[in-house]
Amino acid sequence: MDMLVLRKMDKVAWRLANEMEAIGHPTFVTAAQETDWDYKRASYGRLSTRHLGVEAGLGTLGLEVNILTPEFGPRIYLTGILTELELEPDERITEQVCIGESCSRCLHACPADAVQHFGIDKRACAGEAQEYGFMTMLQYMERVIDAPAVERAAMLKKRDMYGFWQGLLRVVGSFGDCPRCLAVCPVGNDYHLHLVDHQKVIPERTPAKLALGKRWKADRLEGKPVAGLSPWNERWVGPEGYKGMVAKQLAAFKRKTPE
Ligand code: SF4
Ligand code: SF4
Repeated sequence: MDMLVLRKMDKVAWRLANEMEAIGHPTFVTAAQETDWDYKRASYGRLSTRHLGVEAGLGTLGLEVNILTPEFGPRIYLTGILTELELEPDERITEQVCIGESCSRCLHACPADAVQHFGIDKRACAGEAQEYGFMTMLQYMERVIDAPAVERAAMLKKRDMYGFWQGLLRVVGSFGDCPRCLAVCPVGNDYHLHLVDHQKVIPERTPAKLALGKRWKADRLEGKPVAGLSPWNERWVGPEGYKGMVAKQLAAFKRKTPE
């Protein structure tokens, strides 16, 4: 499903770029999931579409640093088009779209304990989200090379190899393989339409995770320094803090869609 959406986005962006070129504005489209192999041993692009989305006024970054939009929470994919045409920008959302520490549902649901206080442990997340991603494949192949010859043949016949083949061929399992922080986030009208009944209970929630969320809330209230809320990062999280956007959005949504 991810791949169908990304393919569609690439097509729409390509058509838009073509139209702009046709009327005389040099333009090109960036791949929706671009990777620059020179950066790190994982999938990172030159342009962060999440940050582009914040600049474009679509949303702000959440506790798990996904971009959260009032309409669809974190359940969106973005792409970018670079053009020389000068465009009037939309206003940025300066209020925090994420409910924040008092919600912490993404923290509770994360199987890798990768969610930080408006940050993420990318390495821990990759173990779940990029089950057959580039980094996992490299690490596996390093183990194959280092293994004694008798074990090597068996390792090359394991299910993992099929996963890597699928990942290389169709990108299946190479990113976006873990849906938990996306599924449980209560921001977005789509959550209340389609997910609320299925995601109410979070089986991964533990007393330790609950306590961590509470500690983060207390830290913020006490004004303790939080790396994810540094003056630079606040721009992306929402410098005005949470002012009840989700509750207002939900009330308006319920008025429009009476049961
Ligand atoms: S994608 Fe999965 S592992 Fe990564 S932060 Fe979200 S819940 Fe955690
Ligand atoms: S689950 Fe809650 S804390 Fe996490 S991003 Fe969504 S609103 Fe923010």
